[in-house]
Amino acid sequence: MVPQHVLVLNASYEPINVCSMRRAVVLLLKEKAEILEHAPRAIRGVVRDFPAPHVIRLVYRVKVPRYEARRMSRRALFARDGFECQYCGSRSKLTVDHVVPRSRGGDSSWVNVVTSCAPCNARKGNSLCHEVQMYPRRKPRPPRADVFVDVAAPRRPEAWSRYLAVA
Ligand SMILES: [Zn+2]
Repeated sequence: MVPQHVLVLNASYEPINVCSMRRAVVLLLKEKAEILEHAPRAIRGVVRDFPAPHVIRLVYRVKVPRYEARRMSRRALFARDGFECQYCGSRSKLTVDHVVPRSRGGDSSWVNVVTSCAPCNARKGNSLCHEVQMYPRRKPRPPRADVFVDVAAPRRPEAWSRYLAVA
């Protein structure tokens, strides 16, 4: 099977994104990117078979905002926290919890939100941690620069590992 996701490196080899196979092929056809790793199989084409990309590199360097400066998504937050409730470890009914509740002045920055299951979130409600003795297992922090990989592909393909090792 042709892998669904393609790892995108900047011209500087820094991993910057994961895109669809279709998007990667467009970049390659427009000569905006080159293939660094092929997927095991080719894409069947009408005129000719096209080698399926697995890792591509942009020809021109693009400026990328640091991940922590990008808008936070629920999925990126869950990926940062290993898809586990930061209060009880549950992996189901995940929600976004504000450590300092918004009603009490907390913001939605990376350092004030954690993954929480719905029951823990309801139990914590509008309380501060010390009021209910509920503390996140890990201190919330901005995610690693390559968290986008886990967001797009929770299982990292083997062929990507050496490009991500330098991230
Ligand atoms: Zn929980």
